[in-house]
Parts: sequence; C-alpha cells; structure tokens
Amino acid sequence: MKKTTNSKDAFIKNSFEIKKAHTFAEKIQQLIASYVSKQQVSEQYNTQVLADAFAFQSIPEIGYSEEEFIEELAKKLLPYTTYVGTPNFIGHMTTALPNFIPEVASLVATLNQNVVKIETSQAATFYERQAIAMLHELMYENTETFYHEHIHNIDSTLGIVTSGGTIANISALQCARNRMFPHMEKTGNNTGKIGVVICSELGHYSLKKAMGILGLGSDQLVIVPTDAHNKIRIDLLEKAIQNCQELEQHIVALIGIAGTTECGSIDPLEAMAALAATHDIYFHVDAAWGGPTLLSDKYKPLLKGIEKADSITIDGHKQLYLPMGIGVVLFKNPTTSESIEKESEYIIRKTSIDLGKRSIEGSRPFHSFYVQAGFKLLGKQKYAWLIEKGIETAREMATYVETLQDFELLTAAETNIFLYRCLPKSIHSNEDSIITDITKMNNKINVFNKAIQQKQMKQGNTFVSYTTVALEKYNKQKIVGLRVVVANPLITLAHFKKSIEEQRTLASTIESNL
Ligand SMILES: *Cc1c(COP(=O)(O)O)cnc(C)c1O
Repeated sequence: MKKTTNSKDAFIKNSFEIKKAHTFAEKIQQLIASYVSKQQVSEQYNTQVLADAFAFQSIPEIGYSEEEFIEELAKKLLPYTTYVGTPNFIGHMTTALPNFIPEVASLVATLNQNVVKIETSQAATFYERQAIAMLHELMYENTETFYHEHIHNIDSTLGIVTSGGTIANISALQCARNRMFPHMEKTGNNTGKIGVVICSELGHYSLKKAMGILGLGSDQLVIVPTDAHNKIRIDLLEKAIQNCQELEQHIVALIGIAGTTECGSIDPLEAMAALAATHDIYFHVDAAWGGPTLLSDKYKPLLKGIEKADSITIDGHKQLYLPMGIGVVLFKNPTTSESIEKESEYIIRKTSIDLGKRSIEGSRPFHSFYVQAGFKLLGKQKYAWLIEKGIETAREMATYVETLQDFELLTAAETNIFLYRCLPKSIHSNEDSIITDITKMNNKINVFNKAIQQKQMKQGNTFVSYTTVALEKYNKQKIVGLRVVVANPLITLAHFKKSIEEQRTLASTIESNL
C-alpha cells in the first residue's frame, strides 16, 4: 500500500476532517483533568526559566507529533500558567467559569462564524442582536414596543459587541467625540479646539488609551478626586466643569464608574447624570466590572442612575462569568452610533444588517454566543446568586480583616472588591512608641506590602493582587493595598484566612530586612 502519512492529502484529511473518535481530544481532556485537579495557583517559577523554555524561534519543519505537542504543554506551559479558577486565586477579575463553557467554546470554534457581515454569519447576526437587546433591557429597562422596534432594525444599534471593555470604552468615546466635534471623524481636528473628558481619579487606564487614539490627547482627561468612599466628589466635579467652561474647553464626555477596578466603588451616578443633563454633556458609564450587579434585585440599587447614561460599557468576561474576549457597549439612543458608521462596497453596505458597520473591529468571533449561553442556561436568578455570593463573601472577609491587629482594612467592600494591608510588627505593636511622620511610615508599609505580594505570587499557593490608591484617610497619600476580588463562588472565608496566614509568615521574613 502507498504510504500517505506525509502527503498533502493525508495532512488535509487528518487536520481538517471532523473525526468521531478523536484521540487528540482525549489527550487534551486528560491534560485538562490534571490541570484542574490542583488547588494551587501555579508552580513556583522564575521568569528566566520560563523565558528559556520558549527561546527557540524557528517554525518546526515537519511539525511535532501529537504526543510531543501534548508533552510540551504538560511540562512547560500549563503548570506555569495562572490557574484562575482555583478558589485560592482571589486577586483578579479573571476567574472561574461555569462548567458548560468548554462545550460552548467548542461550538463557537467549530461554527467559526464571522459576525462582521451577514454572509459569514446569517442567523448568528440575529442571535447576537438578541443578546445585545437582553443586555440593553437589563441596563435601560425600555418598553416592549421599544425593543420590538429596534431589536432587528437595520438603522438601530442598541449596542456593539467588542473584544473587551477597552474597545467598548473607545467606541463610546468615539460617539461622544463626534457629537461634540462632528467633523472630526472625517476631517480630523483642524479647529484647534480642545476637547476634554472628565472622570474620577479611579478611571480605568483604557480611557487614556481612548483619548490618545481618538485624537483628543491622553493629557486631556480631567481627573476629579474621590471622597472617603472612593467615589467622585460631586462638589469638585462641579468645579471642574466650571473650570473647563472658563478655559473654553469642550467637555466631550463625563464618565461615571460603576465598580472601580481598584476597589469596586460605584460613583454617584444619579447626581452625575443630573449634572451632565444640566450642562448638556454626553454621559458614559464604565460598568465593565459592576454592570452585572443589576442582575441582583438586592444590589441593583447601588447602580441607580445608570439608566440615564448615553452609553454603558459592560464586560462579559468579568462578572458574566464568560471567557476572555467579550465586551459590549450599549447605547441609550439606538442612533447614537450613526456617527461612527462606515460602509464598503463588498460588505457592510448601507442597506445591510451587517454588524461590522459600526464596530471598530473588523472580522469578529461569535463571542456573543457565550452571552446567550450564560443568560439562557443560568437565567437571571442564578446570576443573581453569583453576584450576591461575591459581595457577601467579600464583606465577610473585610469584617474579618477588621478583627486583626496586624492587618488594616483600607477600603470597605461596597461590592466584591476591597483593599487591605499588612502592618509590620514594629508598627502594630507600637515599638516605635510615637509615630511622628505618617507619610514616612506609610512609605515603609508600602514597600513591605509590595514585597509580601510578590513573594506570595512566586510561591504560587495562594494569590491576592496589589494596587496603589490615594486614600482620603491618609490625606491622599498613595497607599499600597493588597487587593481581594471575590467572583469565583467557590471562594470562602477559609481560603482568605489561608492567604492571610501565608502573608503573616512572609511578613516575618521580610520584617528583618526593613
Ligand atoms: C476591566 C475594565 C476595563 C477594561 O476592560 P478590558 O476588558 O480589560 O479591555 C475598563 N473599565 C473597567 C472599570 C474595568 O474594570
């Protein structure tokens, strides 16, 4: 018989034909089973070893055997990735996924729809529009008639699915910019007028990216200080608006944050919306993190006023418990995004329903399918349970920190994120008898906490992240906080206690070097 293993035909058959009994799939399944059987965040590592493991740049001439490929994954890659699904990982917004996701992912990959245009997606286009409408209703609670009119109307855009919150924020600000400077989309900024965007000091760094990309300039982000609860100060916001007006700067948008990345706080959206209305300013709410809080009737009031926003960003890959690569920007008015519409001859024609007309991205995966799967398989009720569990566990942990002498709670758990820090023994046991210089003391504690976090991460058993925020409590001095994010519903107070224990042990080794 003719040997065909290396022939083109065999390659095409073996690599593209869908097989019923898929041994490769079984091997991958084994790999996954061993990965998720661990509780630890990752194996101990150092970056040099990881760099050396992947330091060869040539594309393999023949290609690995499946066994060789799997072996490389098992030995060099997977053990050193971050196991974001373990309940010992309590420091980031990236977290565990419901266990139906891998099957849904396999469907998304197999269908490989390109939702940029109807010709490569057909029903998927309408399925995506339905997902957007569900999110829109969650945020804006419009009437049946409204949704009936706009859900599949070619000229209406209730929202745009993006790869994440960053692109969603950019899309929203692009609409805001075009509202203020209608010529900019086509002719650029040739007026010399300055356009500013206002947000609190806890605004996400994607806003700076947006300002740069949109030609407004990242320095034109006007930062308003936050209060003791890490919410934008309305009195200072009013002053900032007045100041911009006096300087004849054009206010492109005001941005409220519903769930700050740093500590989960929520801006006073209602008051901000009122100010935006008074001054006729475009109001955007960045609810990338906190948006899904609306799924819980119990905690929904925290976001009061969000329904007045001209646009809202929400991330699917955060609190909707969906895989990486899903953001959405929603528009109160279905024609707001007309100003960013583009056409081309072969796709996204003016009269088509192509989703690519108004999105920054071109070819785009059918990731809205995950939103559909999440909403339809979990329903509002189970999502509410997840949201409530996260907030309540975080509050339980924060209360626990308050009982500890060697730790300090830095921010309250308004939602499911809070900051705290470890205090060196010399400070909490008052060996330095009188602390004369608080600034100096805090600088010392900052270094101490950063060191703890770094060591904890490298050990790989448990994980919390760290961030630096200017706290009202310390006269706006920048304080390093250990950051807890509770999204994974399997995280309990016991996991947090284990992390605290580890930090205590690390603290005693670091203390001697302070
Ligand atoms: C995560 C986040 C973003 C950015 O979203 P990506 O999906 O990472 O691009 C923007 N704003 C807030 C408040 C966020 O938490």
